[in-house]
Amino acid sequence: MSPIDSLPPLRAVLEEHGLDPKRSLGQNFLLDLNLTGRIARQALPLEGATIVEIGPGPGGLTRALLAEGASHVVVVEKDSRCIPALEAIAAHYPGRLDIRRADALDFDLAEVAHPDGADALKIVANLPYNVGTQLLLNWIATPQWPPVWSSLTLMFQREVAERIVAVPGSKHYGRLGVLAGWRTQAKILFDVPPEAFTPPPKVTSSVIQLRPRAEPEPASLAALERVTATAFGQRRKMLRQSLKSLGGEALLVAADIDPQRRAETLSISEFVRLANGLD
Ligand code: SAM
Repeated sequence: MSPIDSLPPLRAVLEEHGLDPKRSLGQNFLLDLNLTGRIARQALPLEGATIVEIGPGPGGLTRALLAEGASHVVVVEKDSRCIPALEAIAAHYPGRLDIRRADALDFDLAEVAHPDGADALKIVANLPYNVGTQLLLNWIATPQWPPVWSSLTLMFQREVAERIVAVPGSKHYGRLGVLAGWRTQAKILFDVPPEAFTPPPKVTSSVIQLRPRAEPEPASLAALERVTATAFGQRRKMLRQSLKSLGGEALLVAADIDPQRRAETLSISEFVRLANGLD
C-alpha cells in the first residue's frame, strides 16, 4: 500500500495496464510518491484552484496533487494506454479529476480557465522532454497578458532549466532566458537525479517554477522573438554583424547599445529597446 492513498503501487499500475515506457512520448515515469508529493507541494495551495497537469502517464503526480488537497485537476494525456489507470484514480477521488485525451500542444488552456480568474489556474507537470520547451514557450509567449495561469511548476532537464532561469553574461543565457525573464520570475527549486525515473534519463532534471510578472516592460512579443532569435542565432558575433538583417548598427545606436557588444551581454531591458526599435 502506498503512503498517500489506497490505490495500487505505481509499479503494479504499469504492469496491469501494460505501460511499457515509450521513448517517442518522452515517458520517464516517477514512481516514488514521496517525490511526486514534494513536487505537488511546490504549488500549494491547491484547493479551490484548477490544476492542469500535462502528461500524467500512470498518475504518480496526479495522485500526489489530489492527496495534497487539489479539488479540481485536469490532466491532458496523449497516450491512450494511460487512460484506464487515470480513470481508476478519478473513481478514487469522485468529481475531482477531469481526464482529457489530447495532444498538449493543441490544448487550449482557456477551455479550463477558472471562472474566478487567473489566480486560480496552475500548471504542474513532469513534462515530456520532446515537447517541453515548446509547451513552455506557448504558455509564456501568449498574446494575452497577464496569462490565464498564476504559476507553472515544471520538471525539465537541468540544462533546459538553466537556460530558462539564465541571467545576462552566463553561458546558458539565450532566447529562452530573455523571453522567460521578460514576462516571468523563474527559479530552480530542486534537482532530481536520473535514478528517480523509470526508465532513468541520461541527465539530471530540475523542478522549476515560473510566476507571471504583473507588468512586463512593454514590447511586441513578435518583435522580441525576432530580435532574440536573430541575435542569438550568431551569439559569438558582434551585434552589428548578427543583427545586420534587422538594421544592424543603426538599430543598435538608436537603442543606445554599443554595436560591438555580443548578444549574451545584453540585459532584457536592452532587448526590449531593440524590439521596440524594429519597424
Ligand atoms: N507525469 C508522469 C510521471 O511523472 O510519472 C509522466 C511524465 S512523462 C515524463 C511525460 C508524459 O507526457 C507521458 O505520460 C507521455 O505519454 C505524455 N506526453 C508526451 N507527449 C505528450 C503530448 N504531446 N501531449 C500530452 N501528453 C504527452
